Amino acid sequence: MDRDGTLMPDLHYLADPAAVEVTVGVGDALRLLRSHGYLVVCVTNQSGVHRGFFPEETVHAIHRRLNERLAPRGAWVDAFYHCPHRPEENCECRKPGTALFLRAADDWSIDLAASAMVGDRAPDIEAGNRLGLFTVLLPEAGHGAAVDRELAERSVAPDVRVASFGSAAAAILARG
Ligand SMILES: [Mg+2]
Ligand SMILES: [Zn+2]
Repeated sequence: MDRDGTLMPDLHYLADPAAVEVTVGVGDALRLLRSHGYLVVCVTNQSGVHRGFFPEETVHAIHRRLNERLAPRGAWVDAFYHCPHRPEENCECRKPGTALFLRAADDWSIDLAASAMVGDRAPDIEAGNRLGLFTVLLPEAGHGAAVDRELAERSVAPDVRVASFGSAAAAILARG
């Protein structure tokens, strides 16, 4: 799963854990996926760290807060991986780079061919495609046209496009 714009609203360089809110429907959908045996892993680009906007600890605090917000729904994210780099650093972990996905697969013995990626932007889908993941595009409300341009520029397409996180979970489960 992508984080900003997917599990939670994209608040742009969010540095305040208290401002974390989970997108409607995400908790129930994650609980459903977990009940079907899926591990929930979040891979997120957080260039705000190397831009000097917030320290690494803030990223961890936001992730703890996200899980606290999910807890009342009986859901949680099993693991978070973040890239702290700026695009100019040309690292291998910033999406569409795949380094964090590969690390997660190694850490958790994940079968990538049986896994899915849900994200709101083209780099999420591009990373998923590179790894052979089932890709689900869930654009944030009002951003569909911008995401379409991104996809066209990168010549990437998701396996499915949905309008809610619940529909993303249903698509993943329907694929089996
Ligand atoms: Mg996003
Ligand atoms: Zn990186």
